[in-house]
Amino acid sequence: MAARTPLRVVLVKPSKYGRDGYVERFRRGFMPNSTLGYLASLTPAEVDGVPCETVTIDEYVRADLGYLDLLAADPDRRTLVALVGVQSHQFHRALDLAALARSRSVACAVVGGPHSMTCDTAELQGRGVSFALAEAELVWPAILRDALAGALEPVYGGDRRWQERLEPPPLRPPSKRDLRRYAVRLMGIYPARGCPFTCNFCSVIKIAGRAMRSQPVATTLASLKAAQAAGVRRVMFTSDNFNKIPDLRALLEAMIDEGVRLPFFAQCDVQIEREPALVELLARAGCFQMFVGVESFSREALRAAHKLHNKPERYARIVELCRAHGITSHFSNILGFPGDTEASIREHLATLRALGPDVASFYLLTPIPGTEQYGDFLEQGLISEDNLDRFDGSAVTWRHPHLAPRRWEDLVFGCVREFYSARDVAAKLARLASGRRDFRTASALAAVLGYSLQSRLAAAARTHPMAGGVGRVRRDREADYLPVRRRTFGFERAPLPANLTLSVADEELNRRAKLRAAG
Ligand code: SF4
Repeated sequence: MAARTPLRVVLVKPSKYGRDGYVERFRRGFMPNSTLGYLASLTPAEVDGVPCETVTIDEYVRADLGYLDLLAADPDRRTLVALVGVQSHQFHRALDLAALARSRSVACAVVGGPHSMTCDTAELQGRGVSFALAEAELVWPAILRDALAGALEPVYGGDRRWQERLEPPPLRPPSKRDLRRYAVRLMGIYPARGCPFTCNFCSVIKIAGRAMRSQPVATTLASLKAAQAAGVRRVMFTSDNFNKIPDLRALLEAMIDEGVRLPFFAQCDVQIEREPALVELLARAGCFQMFVGVESFSREALRAAHKLHNKPERYARIVELCRAHGITSHFSNILGFPGDTEASIREHLATLRALGPDVASFYLLTPIPGTEQYGDFLEQGLISEDNLDRFDGSAVTWRHPHLAPRRWEDLVFGCVREFYSARDVAAKLARLASGRRDFRTASALAAVLGYSLQSRLAAAARTHPMAGGVGRVRRDREADYLPVRRRTFGFERAPLPANLTLSVADEELNRRAKLRAAG
């Protein structure tokens, strides 16, 4: 092949295999995947002077399997297949797509994202599929150049996981065609990464570190303006502690001053309750929903999970502040901490309903591979599930001291049904509808109604409401891919991985963040 042969980059966000073995596919998704958009924006139109075409595929919303034809060698160009943003429950699917591409003579296939960054993939390396162990900005230019040359290294980014500064280009918004694949014309923006806290169940600090790194305000603003011009109707800021972004006020004021009228969803930590002025500013800039990881009302559970900054007696203040400013509150709950019992879960639900956040999400405590908790549970022999597909927060994966597996799941799905009782949802919608109206109101109402309905439907199907979309379509199954998985990797099921340790450079970044947090 000539040296100037163009490059086609096929970016795929893999889906996952459901409990019935089928690939999870939906007629409409909830939101475009933000990693796909981010990687597409990081991919230049030319690499070393050679034209580079980028195709993005979110498998969750591809009911038609035609896109699989792109995972094949093309006589007219080099092909790089990149499986992006791969979490542990998507890992088998990512391996299968990479193996499928290799079996169709694609020379360059790479798997990146949280699982490869935080879990040991050594056993899988050197079999023709590459693994990216670092943030994309650190490895993507080298991967593109190697793909252009026709051969990838087995591993990229083994020496450090995180970059010191974030300086990405503004995001390219999704096309109108891509936006139509989703129930809401929504776009994810990730203006900052990292979290100063140390919750033992959290994968964020393993994926992004403890140093809070944010991109320039001008970059986020440019992404927002491009999204607005492209017909995006809402934004989800996917940073985990939006309220901790150092230049957040400057960003919000710039959004107001420059007329960005995009209702947005933001995730804040519980310390937002100390900042009423910031909540007011968030509302004026367009925040229609605030997601807060309250997790538990038990001080003991929070202490054992190293989430000491959560003060259950202050949770009510968050609901109150949000209401005062026309923001809907969304509380995230983890059920099944080691000290939990059936009675404590019932009590949790009663307390939550009395507080009355507008929406709530419920997760079974899941030791996510790569986290401190997963490492501890693995060492103690507590992990009972050997299929990575199940580590998605909606299935029992470890032996709980007080809760039998089926009963535990029943309790969680029962909490969803009770929290979203028709009477409670109707009362919340009526209150919202009768409040002050502005450009966020329709988004707030739609989000509460949509999430409540979806939660009820998901609970009936024993899945999580954020998993994928609406209108499930069954097409291809895991069994269809097992032969190529076996041939490429030598197994039918990936072994449970050990956690990857941090490099010296990454430890140093964490150490400096810890010192800063200590004041
Ligand atoms: S506060 Fe949230 S993002 Fe930070 S470590 Fe805890 S769970 Fe993770």
